[in-house]
Amino acid sequence: MSTREQDDHRLPLPEGYDETRTMVLSASQFKTFDLCKRKWWFLKCMKLPDKKSTSHVFGKALHAALERWLLADDRGIDPQTGKPVDIYPKGWSEGLTPREADLLQKLVAEGISSGLIVRHPGREIERGFMRLFAETGGGSKDTPDGWSIFLTGFIDLMVQDLGLIQDHKSTKSMRYALSKNKLSKDVQMTLYAAELLHLRPELQEVDVQHNVFVKDMDKPRIRFPATKATLPRAEIESTWSRYQGTALEMLALKHRWTDINQHALLPDPPKPAKSCNSYGGCPFQLICGGRETPQEYAKRMEDQVTNIFEEQLAAAKGSAVAVAPGATSLNGPVPPPSNPQPQNVPLWWAPPGT
Ligand code: SF4
Repeated sequence: MSTREQDDHRLPLPEGYDETRTMVLSASQFKTFDLCKRKWWFLKCMKLPDKKSTSHVFGKALHAALERWLLADDRGIDPQTGKPVDIYPKGWSEGLTPREADLLQKLVAEGISSGLIVRHPGREIERGFMRLFAETGGGSKDTPDGWSIFLTGFIDLMVQDLGLIQDHKSTKSMRYALSKNKLSKDVQMTLYAAELLHLRPELQEVDVQHNVFVKDMDKPRIRFPATKATLPRAEIESTWSRYQGTALEMLALKHRWTDINQHALLPDPPKPAKSCNSYGGCPFQLICGGRETPQEYAKRMEDQVTNIFEEQLAAAKGSAVAVAPGATSLNGPVPPPSNPQPQNVPLWWAPPGT
């Protein structure tokens, strides 16, 4: 996912479309929806904040460094300044610990020297797109009429002449990196490949590639050679049509459920154990477990952001500030006080029969 996608940047809609009757989806929204419809609804319809993790900051800094290197010309000259590109300009490591910054530079250096990251002629970096995906009007009882659904995204690297799409991935462990087989079925890469087919209708297949960087302090490494898959046009088109159906379902869900307090009426995921624990654990587990209201969740997240901000401010001033135990800081979890006071223990931690 590109840095712009991570920051929720959005391209403008094409002229003539009414914002109030338009839904804009991204490939990562489809991934969330496939995992759990309620999770997608919380995030994208009810606008509950997601948890922020330090890996998000690391991934963003890694993408930015790679993008700067790739945006330079073939001699390494930054077209904006006319000088050799500086891929680590002032402020680049904001939010990273010195160890993380060091690790990131090692990973980037390895990615470049190994030939994983290549300045292909004709490369497009962070290629954004906003493409009409589906329109409603068939008189279905579930979906409102007169809506336009767009698919948007920013592709880390596209080379039209080579029929090639690449995405940079940072991960905690190589075991989370997709295999060739899983990559060939990955919805994000397939929908990015569809964008390339829209631009180059003569292509019959698209090569997709994940550039994997492992953020492991003890064992930093990259995957080389990279995982690649070739997607035939027929498969790309079939995935595109399948997700058009999913998009209509998302629109119907958005319109049917408009009160956040009705969250329990939305369907559970098919495999809750898997979905609720994916990607480090869903942030909404306390809500779905009936231990917290959505309003309490939103307040808790707001307090957490305030704590992080105050902690950073204090660090900048060189003074200590009290931060609530359990809050996440950009430097990792805040340790509990040395003499912890009894707290309200959620019921699901209580031994059976109590
Ligand atoms: S906790 Fe589980 S059921 Fe609830 S929104 Fe998250 S993934 Fe879905």
